[in-house]
Amino acid sequence: MTGLHASAGSGPDMSPAAHLSLPLTISETEDNMKKAIYPGSFDPVTYGHIDIIHRAASIFDELTVSVLNNKEKSPLFSVEERVKMLKEVTEALPNVKVESFSGLLIDYARSKDVHVSVRGLRAITDFEYELQIAQTNKLLSAGELDTVFLTTSLEYAYLSSSSVKEIATFNGDISKCVPPSVAALVYAKYGHRTGV
Ligand code: ADP
Repeated sequence: MTGLHASAGSGPDMSPAAHLSLPLTISETEDNMKKAIYPGSFDPVTYGHIDIIHRAASIFDELTVSVLNNKEKSPLFSVEERVKMLKEVTEALPNVKVESFSGLLIDYARSKDVHVSVRGLRAITDFEYELQIAQTNKLLSAGELDTVFLTTSLEYAYLSSSSVKEIATFNGDISKCVPPSVAALVYAKYGHRTGV
């Protein structure tokens, strides 16, 4: 990992970060690439997640979508299944990788020399939860892990993995929520062949 303070060139550093004595600039990594992690449950991945992935992939040089292996939740899909679905729906994006991790995000991010976590914001209800996670990660990482929020695109503002699961339980139509390959797997989990 590079030093804890931003510095560039040989002259005095006139950047705002230097004056404020901020820790790392968010883009500073060993190989000087702008990298970010998009962590989440993705149980299953929805068009809302995919929208965030596309937009983050156009902002950062490298985006790692990381499925959290959270033993306390009882997910519909295994971590392996979620990673496979994500790989399929992101295969056209060359700068997107898909992985899984367990434990603290800050430890995982540090192991990858990544200093930015991307999260999506839908409604005010997301805000408090997301703010708390972002601030805790900032504190626990001694300022090394920052969070960048992308606001949802309006058409996905009410879309969540849990609503997809709820609709699919009753064999409802989830075609506007998830890609066809994901929809087939969701219906199969509930013993339905299609959504109609
Ligand atoms: P969590 O990580 O809290 O279990 P998810 O895996 O469902 O939640 O979502 C991962 C991230 O994607 C979260 O920041 C969440 O707010 C965001 N997200 C989920 N659905 C959407 C959506 N429709 N539009 C924008 N962001 C979303």
